Amino acid sequence: MTELVPERYPLAFQLYPYRRSPDQDAASPVRHKVIVVGGGPIGLATALDLGQQGVPVLLLDDHEGAGLGSRALCFAKRTLEICDRLGAAAPMLDKGVRWNLGKVFHDDRLLYEFNLLPEEGHAFPAFINLQQPWFEKYLFDAIAAAQAKGAPIEIRGRNRVDGLNQAADHVTLNVATPDGPYALEADWLIACDGARSPLRDMLGLDFKGRVFEDNFLIADVKMKASFPTERWFWFEPHFKSGASALLHKQPDDIWRIDFQLGWDIDRKKELLPENIRARVDAMLGTDVAYDLDWCSIYTFQCRRMDNFRHGNVLFAGDSAHQVSPFGARGANSGIQDVDNLAWKLKLVIEGKAPSRLLDSYDSERVYGADENILNSTRATDFITPKSAVSKLFRNAVLELAEKVPFARTIVNSGRLSLPCTYDGSTLNGPDCPTMPRRTRPGSPCPDVAMADGWLLRQLGNGFTLLTIDTDAPDLSTVHGLPLTRLATSAKENHLLRARYLGEAASAVYLIRPDQHVAARWETYDAKAVALALATALSLETA
Ligand SMILES: Cc1cc2nc3c(=O)[nH]c(=O)nc-3n(C[C@H](O)[C@H](O)[C@H](O)COP(=O)(O)OP(=O)(O)OC[C@H]3O[C@@H](n4cnc5c(N)ncnc54)[C@H](O)[C@@H]3O)c2cc1C
Repeated sequence: MTELVPERYPLAFQLYPYRRSPDQDAASPVRHKVIVVGGGPIGLATALDLGQQGVPVLLLDDHEGAGLGSRALCFAKRTLEICDRLGAAAPMLDKGVRWNLGKVFHDDRLLYEFNLLPEEGHAFPAFINLQQPWFEKYLFDAIAAAQAKGAPIEIRGRNRVDGLNQAADHVTLNVATPDGPYALEADWLIACDGARSPLRDMLGLDFKGRVFEDNFLIADVKMKASFPTERWFWFEPHFKSGASALLHKQPDDIWRIDFQLGWDIDRKKELLPENIRARVDAMLGTDVAYDLDWCSIYTFQCRRMDNFRHGNVLFAGDSAHQVSPFGARGANSGIQDVDNLAWKLKLVIEGKAPSRLLDSYDSERVYGADENILNSTRATDFITPKSAVSKLFRNAVLELAEKVPFARTIVNSGRLSLPCTYDGSTLNGPDCPTMPRRTRPGSPCPDVAMADGWLLRQLGNGFTLLTIDTDAPDLSTVHGLPLTRLATSAKENHLLRARYLGEAASAVYLIRPDQHVAARWETYDAKAVALALATALSLETA
């Protein structure tokens, strides 16, 4: 998003006020194991994930907390599952507005409805709506809770990185503070400094993609309305407030409304309260009382870096890839970056995996970014047709969608964020063709209710060997790593059978710390498991 007016400040929450650090008085730059730059959702989640795994991490942010401003609001099931592993999901779920249903309108006609989570047996809903500052605050609260239990996480507010020098085995950072500049060193640097990433510029790296020539007005309004908690999207709405419009409920009686304004607009004029109110009144009706809570205009781009790993510097979140908001794939995909990166970096730092394991962070998350950019670009092209002919085609599809279900698959008001399956990853081991496709190697494990709680709650603490209706020995360590053993039965659990067994009589799954499947077999074989684990760690397997 190239512009958000005003930018993400003033502060909504002052979470980590500036405090002078002893590092600022050191005679020579103090070396840290890992420095994360950026205290947005992705930087906070990275620090939390690493710190909880015992990796010492220092986070530097140029502000002192979460910004006020309307950016992300839709957080997907996979994000909640990851935040649950990090101990941050419960307050998000409590505060957030849960939803699974969406409606698509053209003019004044309902074209169709969709359910994003049509199946039972998941701990979390398809989505919650929660303002980004709250999402960040809950991540910060989880950091504070982890710190209280001894997790080695430090956050320094109003520490702005102004310079970066990369050497073979470390980086040096110049940091500006209210007390003047100082220098720091880090073995590993994770750049989570947002779409405009100063760090990317400091390393002279490209960020290539497409700019979309359209403006969207966000009007967050506070009202006691009786609209259902569903996502409503209009193409060419009858109330004429924009070329498209979106209505979504947020917590605290706040509703997010987006209007598509077109490219050639007078921004100042559009942001005048009376002009915003005219659009909102036309949508809601003049008898609906509301207050304007937040208004801004955004434009956007879909782009990514060529590579997310540059030696000992790793890019995550918007600094690495940027998408349009349609599909809610920005922060949601950034959280998947964190999930993918943290366990790999920990094992590399501990010397349990070679540094090339981090190349799989690059390849897997570049693959994920391309999937997100493709979906987001297609949605944007559909919502904002670039020529009269494309608009004609688009509207013909909309006409058809009202009557013919197959046409609904072509309508694209934003394909909403789904977790990425790392097909073709170098970390994937053997597959078993009689088992369901949705749990093939590379896939994120789908949740299932078990007799003793949710399955995902029992995965994610290192590598796990999940056995279903078959035996395997209790393995203490393989390749120097503890391998958690989880023995289950699908005999009385039809969802476990449907999601993990399929046609197979039994199953053995090797599951990565990020809850993605590494390999699977019908029965246990010690050599096969050891080889698949070596593959998942990028060890030499000759
Ligand atoms: C209108 C809109 C709607 C959106 N809706 C959704 C949605 O519904 N769902 C979704 O998943 N995503 C959505 N997004 C995208 C989401 O907001 C971003 O993907 C997310 O903020 C990226 O997080 P980040 O941590 O990578 O970067 P940021 O949130 O941009 O954080 C970067 C941080 O780095 C700090 N920083 C920058 N430079 C320095 C420096 N030199 N030194 C120290 N610190 C620095 C910044 O101050 C900031 O704290 C939306 C975006 C927009 C604009």
